[in-house]
Amino acid sequence: MIIKYREKPAKIMGYEALLKRISPTHPKRATIKNTLNNARAGFGGEERLDEALDYFDPPYAYQLIQDFSLPAPYKIQVDTVLITQSCVILLEVKNITGKLQFKQNPSALHSILADGEIKSYKSPITQMNETAMRMGKFMKTLGCNLPISSIIVIAHPSQIVENAPQNARILAVGELNFYLSNLNLPKPILSIEQLYQLGHSFLAAHQSYQPFPLAPKFQIEQSEIEKGVFCPRCHFGEMTRTKVTWECETCRLISKNAHTETLQEWFMLIKSTINTAECRDFIGLKNLDIAKRFLLNNNCQPVGGRKHRKYIYQPLHK
Ligand SMILES: [Zn+2]
Repeated sequence: MIIKYREKPAKIMGYEALLKRISPTHPKRATIKNTLNNARAGFGGEERLDEALDYFDPPYAYQLIQDFSLPAPYKIQVDTVLITQSCVILLEVKNITGKLQFKQNPSALHSILADGEIKSYKSPITQMNETAMRMGKFMKTLGCNLPISSIIVIAHPSQIVENAPQNARILAVGELNFYLSNLNLPKPILSIEQLYQLGHSFLAAHQSYQPFPLAPKFQIEQSEIEKGVFCPRCHFGEMTRTKVTWECETCRLISKNAHTETLQEWFMLIKSTINTAECRDFIGLKNLDIAKRFLLNNNCQPVGGRKHRKYIYQPLHK
């Protein structure tokens, strides 16, 4: 049974917002675009992995978690975790274009593009070994000593893989369901109740990876980020405030709450707190009172004394 579903990574929205709000000639634009493309490809691969297990119906009891992560001291991010009564299997999907070559001593993954360009990545095998080790440490704290194994999943059948080490399990996404459904599992260590309990303990420990704020990560100053409410339809048109709504200067879209997205973008790009003056200026509100009411109406909690009061965003789910 799937006990946690994947969501579109917030960082993709963040990179899109950053590109929208820096100048078209900004020197960091190419780097951010590249990061966005990698993130989109990664998510595309994860979606293919989920689709491949849409009809997963094995003859054994299981708990499946899509997109599992733990903060420090474990620092784990796993695309999919499959928990059974006798073992835990970590799935990591790779969606990298070009011909893939595993290198050893030192290990790396090279992708060779059609034009001959070679890109080098951290070996997914090294990455999975490390993750499995940290996962073992985490599971020990739950009093669980199930063996852990890893599978690397190749997202597209057109990807050619060369020199895969013998001891690594690398599967095409299309064969994953059959492979997992026909596993010869060792004798169960956990009862069904213990299996469900373990699934719950994993969920309780899970914490989504938090990539924000993004501007400092790219060494972009706040002054380089364009302010204002952007149109949710044409994305580049700036919106002006009419009496109760926002109107796009370019496509004339009328929106009641386009500015809530602008507030989200502040937290994604600039910093994790905002005060009423910053809110007024960034969104383009008339005065501090309106800004304060707006923050309180949009899941923001005040912190600090009256003089230095700031607001933090309190999302409804973790
Ligand atoms: Zn518009």
